[in-house]
Amino acid sequence: VPSREDGFAIASQYLERHIEILLGGGRKHFAAAQRKDERDLLAEFGTRGYAVCRTAEELTAAPVDHPCLGLFADSHLPFTLDQQSDAKLQKTVPTLAVMTQAALTRLERADRFILQVEGGRVDHACHNCDIAAAIHDQIALDEAIEVCWNFYVQHPDTLLVMTTDHGTGEPAISGAGNEYEDSYRLLARVKGVKRSFPEILKLLTRSKTPAAIAEVISGSTGLRIATDQAALLQPFLEKKGQALFSGMKSDTAQLGQLLAAHLGVGWVSGSHTGDHAPLVAVGPGAELFRGFMPNTDIFKNYLQLAGVSYRNPVWAQRHVPLPFAVAMERVEEYQFA
Ligand SMILES: [Zn+2]
Repeated sequence: VPSREDGFAIASQYLERHIEILLGGGRKHFAAAQRKDERDLLAEFGTRGYAVCRTAEELTAAPVDHPCLGLFADSHLPFTLDQQSDAKLQKTVPTLAVMTQAALTRLERADRFILQVEGGRVDHACHNCDIAAAIHDQIALDEAIEVCWNFYVQHPDTLLVMTTDHGTGEPAISGAGNEYEDSYRLLARVKGVKRSFPEILKLLTRSKTPAAIAEVISGSTGLRIATDQAALLQPFLEKKGQALFSGMKSDTAQLGQLLAAHLGVGWVSGSHTGDHAPLVAVGPGAELFRGFMPNTDIFKNYLQLAGVSYRNPVWAQRHVPLPFAVAMERVEEYQFA
């Protein structure tokens, strides 16, 4: 499709392409009431033999010898941080690790397969400059990686690649306090944060004074927020705030700045950032994924390994040769064993 935002077309393509297992959010794109063509895709997936699941319990009970469609939220899945403080969400939304295991249990039966697992809400949390939400979703991804690793140990003929397409917000622990260790003491306070920024902002809609704003943020984060700090945030909550850098001109970015003063984690912006992304691979073909490389080469490697000949028709028009050599750097000499 021309745009990744076109979820309705993508949902029907999933059915046409007969993807074996699809788990996540985005239920609205499958519902007759919300589709222009009024197709009931959930019913159509059922007719084609899919086990259609709406809750974590239904996923656990679904037969492993059927293709599976699990949609656990109308839009995005909740932030893991919010899910942990909501018993209902814990029942309805499986963790990324549970979804990964459900997928591998089914795909293990196939001769060969490709599975993509995305910790997609880490990016969303970082767009919000929300370190607590980012860390909890990063941990959820880490637990899913453990599931993949265990599969790899049992099936060493599997190529396992772990990477990301880009950084977001570029959060970093920043020196704070008088001692080096003060930074870690501040970071440890992340454990006391109980709500993501969107949830805190929902509560803040009725807070009209700096004192009320400070109380809501303190109640959600366990941090002692001063009234004069809350007063600096207030214009951004009212959408009239002015920031010297436009990349920080939002309620979420400013809330991130406020918490940076308490947690010691600073932000570059609420946008995608140019930091290097990790790239780790094990298994056959892993040698193609080493060192520093343009992230588009990861896709080319997948094609090569899968024996697929494909050229993106759009890429040819957009491609402008880079002004420097992009061949893989030989970094073996300074890699740790
Ligand atoms: Zn993003």
